[in-house]
Amino acid sequence: MQTKNSTNLGEKATPLSDKKANGKEMPWREKKISNVGYYELLELLNFKKAERVANCGDILEFKKNEEGRLKLARAWFCMSPLCPMYNWRKSMKRSAQTRIIVERVIREKPKARKPVGCS
Ligand SMILES: [Zn+2]
Repeated sequence: MQTKNSTNLGEKATPLSDKKANGKEMPWREKKISNVGYYELLELLNFKKAERVANCGDILEFKKNEEGRLKLARAWFCMSPLCPMYNWRKSMKRSAQTRIIVERVIREKPKARKPVGCS
């Protein structure tokens, strides 16, 4: 896992540093290590998707936002439901989508109430 610029023309690779708004490092490294463990199991069991899982999250393209923080612009993930890398990114995407929906409901329906049974 390298930044796009570090793979060009033999430049020396630099470790990825992608920080959250609170300054904590995003767990790319930990998720990739878990992904490799998952890949090894699939390879051992001769699953066809093993190679796809092995390449999950290997290509990441970031852009800097107005605050100077990195934002993932393009990436490739394996789409395997049990892959730790894919699941992490999918959960982040769902979380962001849910936040947008909730903010919109609060803005457009400020008197709306939670359905019975939700906590
Ligand atoms: Zn994956």
